[in-house]
Amino acid sequence: MDEKRFCPNCDKTQPVKCEQREETLTVRDTPIKVASLVTVCSACSEVFATEAQEDENVRKAYDEYRRLKGLLSPSDLKEIRGMYGLSQTAFSRWLSWGDITIHRYEAGSLQDAAHNETLMLLKDPRNAEKILEKHRNNLDQATADRLERTIAALLNAGVAKLVESDIATSLGMAAPSELNGYRRFDIDRFENLVLHILNTVGPTFKTAINKYLWYIDFGYFREQTCSITGSQYLRFAHGPIPKSYDYLFAGMFEKGMMETEEVMFKDHSGERYSATVPANTDLFQGNELKAINAWTSYLKGRSSRRLSGMAHEEKAYMLTKDREPISYRFAAELKVRPAARKKSAAAA
Ligand SMILES: [Zn+2]
Repeated sequence: MDEKRFCPNCDKTQPVKCEQREETLTVRDTPIKVASLVTVCSACSEVFATEAQEDENVRKAYDEYRRLKGLLSPSDLKEIRGMYGLSQTAFSRWLSWGDITIHRYEAGSLQDAAHNETLMLLKDPRNAEKILEKHRNNLDQATADRLERTIAALLNAGVAKLVESDIATSLGMAAPSELNGYRRFDIDRFENLVLHILNTVGPTFKTAINKYLWYIDFGYFREQTCSITGSQYLRFAHGPIPKSYDYLFAGMFEKGMMETEEVMFKDHSGERYSATVPANTDLFQGNELKAINAWTSYLKGRSSRRLSGMAHEEKAYMLTKDREPISYRFAAELKVRPAARKKSAAAA
């Protein structure tokens, strides 16, 4: 059934049809072709647009104009404002615009070219930092302070991301050798091994995670002459640590794979890490996963201090200079053997 609407030509309500017509609208002196929605009177063939159709046609023309001129879309604007966690009014004030400016833009009004320029710049938090320096007084103290912290967090996250990808790349560039267990560093394997350890043993301190990783990589190398993650390990005071592990862990926090909680002790505090996503264990072949699980269940339940003590007794650790890389050649002389404990336990 046809819809009925008031026809201005017939001057009364008539059956009408909704159609699309190619039309050229002018947006800021630029002709824009759009497929406009129109209403056609079935009685007199008069063509007219309802208010809702007008709005929709203008919106279409604006979208096309934005596309032609490379302007941000309303959803881009919302996203940029969202980055800074500001209300529409606070955001407009910060930029010294009229209070409802960003509200109008987000609702579909066509933005001014200079405003568009500013918004483009704000995609980069380094520019936001400069704008905040200049326009701090536009905001009340609390909002300015909060915005400052938000910008700092965005900058740090950006740096962490950059650093992590650089580190992973540079670690991965090292050719297979006795220092990485004859495997190029593989960040997917590293991250998923950490996740698998945490998912198996529960929240764990980083000192302990590093020992798990070291025993797993060295233990597997002893059997197969190949490491699992391709990590290089350095001799540090608390035991062996994977090279650049702090950046790699920071990247995992950034990607939402891990979270941390602070644990208070009598005289100090520590950070316990836990996984927030399951590990992709498909990355590990059958005998790799078996070895990983054997080591994990063998080491599980030992304190960080106990694990450090064990590592300190290994030749690999004792014969390597402080802060130097530990050669996988020492793997052959590892004292700890996960299978050995089971046997002696059975015999006892
Ligand atoms: Zn009519």
